[in-house]
Amino acid sequence: MSLTATATESDRETELKTVPGPILLLGAPGSGKGTQAKELVKLWGIPQISTGDLLRSNVSQGTELGKTAKEIMQRGELVPDTLVNEMVAVRLKQPDTAAGYMLDGFPRTLPQAAWLDGRLASQPQCLPVVAVSIHVDYNQLLRRITGRRNCPVCQTIYNIYSKPPKVSGFCDVEGAALVQRADDTEQVFAERMRAYEAQTAPVVEHYRASGRFAEVDGDRPIAEIAAGIVSAVERLRKQA
Ligand code: AMP
Repeated sequence: MSLTATATESDRETELKTVPGPILLLGAPGSGKGTQAKELVKLWGIPQISTGDLLRSNVSQGTELGKTAKEIMQRGELVPDTLVNEMVAVRLKQPDTAAGYMLDGFPRTLPQAAWLDGRLASQPQCLPVVAVSIHVDYNQLLRRITGRRNCPVCQTIYNIYSKPPKVSGFCDVEGAALVQRADDTEQVFAERMRAYEAQTAPVVEHYRASGRFAEVDGDRPIAEIAAGIVSAVERLRKQA
């Protein structure tokens, strides 16, 4: 993911189109970060690193981190920075991150952002991080979160309002009974939004000020939002 000093302008153009580097997807709970990350990693061939997914996997495996995180997550609060940073550090050491990666749900606090910025600054061969924030209004977020259901087998995401399964309550692909995340209730959503406004909104401002930042409207069809993110990342990479 380095840009060579000797690359010609056209080499550089090609490289910019094909080497995504580190990308942050920012946005409130329910803004579609996970859905978009899944679309874009297929396109770019880089891994999606979702701190929410990593934490849920620790919870289901009953690790020490999972035991600490479980109740915090059920309350809709944020897991302590040091634990999340350490978890991300371990994941970023995997070789599949060499050409770039898409961080989904991280950083969520200014100390996490400072940690990530410091880590990237210590690796001068890395492309700088670019951040894309997906904007969706509060009522739409509430509907998305409280309507969300997942297939526990193939992880397909449904929404009882906007993308219902053919047979209510069951996955179209696997036939498995759909499940609702414990933190997708209206009450926990309100707490997650409080955490977002207090702790994550300043992170959005931090990356906006960096200049390598774009905001996309998340209240559109999935493919249109994905196309908007791709063109934003390509534009930001050209100026980076
Ligand atoms: P998500 O799946 O991204 O909505 O995350 C679900 C929950 O995991 C959040 O409500 C937090 O409790 C926790 N979590 C995920 N990412 C982070 C993070 N970067 N920092 C702290 N807590 C996190």
